[in-house]
Amino acid sequence: MPLIDIKGVSKRFGGLTAVSGVDLSIDEGEIHCLIGPNGAGKSTLFKLIVGVYQPTVGSILFSNTDITGERSYARVQRGMSIKMQAPSVFKELPVRQNLDVALQQKQSGNDLTVERERLLQLLDLADDADKPAGALAHGQQQWLEIGMALALRPRLLLLDEPTAGMSPEETHRTGELIKSLNRDGMTVIVVEHDMAFVRQIAQRVTVLHLGRIFADGTLEHVVNDPRVAEIYLGKAHHG
Ligand code: ADP
Ligand code: MG
Repeated sequence: MPLIDIKGVSKRFGGLTAVSGVDLSIDEGEIHCLIGPNGAGKSTLFKLIVGVYQPTVGSILFSNTDITGERSYARVQRGMSIKMQAPSVFKELPVRQNLDVALQQKQSGNDLTVERERLLQLLDLADDADKPAGALAHGQQQWLEIGMALALRPRLLLLDEPTAGMSPEETHRTGELIKSLNRDGMTVIVVEHDMAFVRQIAQRVTVLHLGRIFADGTLEHVVNDPRVAEIYLGKAHHG
């Protein structure tokens, strides 16, 4: 059963069509990677899914319910959570308090404390819990943001370039974390450039190019498509 079903969605910004006629359905329990050159519309599609933007045309269903007109807040209540591409931790606040801000949307008191300490362990941030978030290494800030997204206990987790700025070892650990969340039932959609990372986690891959779905299938299928190699070299025909 599709958890998220995107039907004929386009998003125009003035004269620019950032997302164009996208049909994409993602099953519950999947790890789905979204790849494509810069400016392909990946982040815009994520923002359409979470309700930061409204589509110019088309509709979006979550668990068979049409959520097209719903605000982000309502979608979070339904079980969606996103780590955006641009960093959004509160740099002045301690790591622990950053998590609390997110956790407060779902719980309080002792439950909150227990969950916060669990997340600090899961993200390997326990030793840095009292540091201001801005003092963390870049990779750790990304983990903290993933933790803030997890604090909302999502059914669907969207991660926009989660490994940017991470070492290969940190990237690999992020992949293992995503796989373990998925084993526990979470559906995860990831925008990513690092193909080793995509290979590590992806069950299915969608290639976006000039706002449109360009290719879709297993990673093997997609990387063996010569048209896909061409768009990364900038040789594909536009339009
Ligand atoms: P990607 O994440 O694949 O790199 P984006 O979704 O960020 O691509 O951007 C797709 C296109 O839409 C780009 O040409 C970008 O400049 C444009 N764009 C994105 N957001 C806005 C916006 N808020 N206003 C105008 N243009 C935008
Ligand atoms: Mg982007």
